[in-house]
Amino acid sequence: MIEANPQYRRCYGSSEVLTGDVNYDDILISYDSLKNKYGLEFLFDTVVDVDPQTQVINLKSGDTVSYDRLIVSPGIDFIWDGTEGYSEAVAQGPMPQAWKAGEQTLLLKRQIDVMPEDGTMIIVPPANPYRCPPGPYERASLMAEMFQTRKPRAKILIFDLKDGFAMDQAFMLGWNRLYGYRIPEDKMTGMPDDINQPSEQGMIDWISGSNGGKIVQVNPPDMTVKPSLAMSFMGM
Ligand SMILES: Cc1cc2nc3c(=O)[nH]c(=O)nc-3n(C[C@H](O)[C@H](O)[C@H](O)COP(=O)(O)OP(=O)(O)OC[C@H]3O[C@@H](n4cnc5c(N)ncnc54)[C@H](O)[C@@H]3O)c2cc1C
Repeated sequence: MIEANPQYRRCYGSSEVLTGDVNYDDILISYDSLKNKYGLEFLFDTVVDVDPQTQVINLKSGDTVSYDRLIVSPGIDFIWDGTEGYSEAVAQGPMPQAWKAGEQTLLLKRQIDVMPEDGTMIIVPPANPYRCPPGPYERASLMAEMFQTRKPRAKILIFDLKDGFAMDQAFMLGWNRLYGYRIPEDKMTGMPDDINQPSEQGMIDWISGSNGGKIVQVNPPDMTVKPSLAMSFMGM
């Protein structure tokens, strides 16, 4: 196995690091059992090129490795220039992406910890397809649970370019019952009869694509985002 990263931190469970329910080192995965139990050999290096004709892999270190069979599974990456104002440098500073676990998780945790009690956390889920479809909404739910006790006047705004998401009605029902979420009319079909719709939105708000939820620009110095509606929102 040729792996760029000698330490793997798993994404699942990283939201619980943000809430403080688990420690950063709890999401550290060791390669030991793959080595010791299954006899895998590890080479910590980065693949820069694969030549399928000669069946040779070129590594960043300058070494080469030849193969008979090859499985390529590098995961996904970000399209850094997909939103005006966003970049890899911005993600490493004021506006972390925090979907790849590791330093990004810690960066966002530090921001959340010092967020004012009435601060606003903005979550921008990606377009489909992406890994862990319920992930952004699960993260919003866990943050709301934590904010309820530690920052009860905080808000979580989810700006989505989609008009629905994995298990959206189950999430919305839970948000309604726990955090005073007002369920959109087009998501009410099949909901239980005893739903209490609050007159004002509670801690969580989900702005769908049809309602202008697509973020077209971010402004790191002001910590604002501009959705496709003609207004700006300020995050923490
Ligand atoms: C917040 C969040 C919560 C999630 N929760 C769950 C969950 O509860 N359950 C679930 O099943 N899934 C969950 N997921 C999804 C899960 O984490 C991913 O689907 C999974 O990590 C994808 O595995 P992968 O091997 O394709 O990619 P990765 O985990 O990204 O692994 C790719 C590996 O390739 C290496 N690599 C990349 N390029 C190179 C190169 N050029 N040379 C050498 N090595 C390279 C990287 O270092 C990395 O270790 C969650 C994801 C997120 C973001």
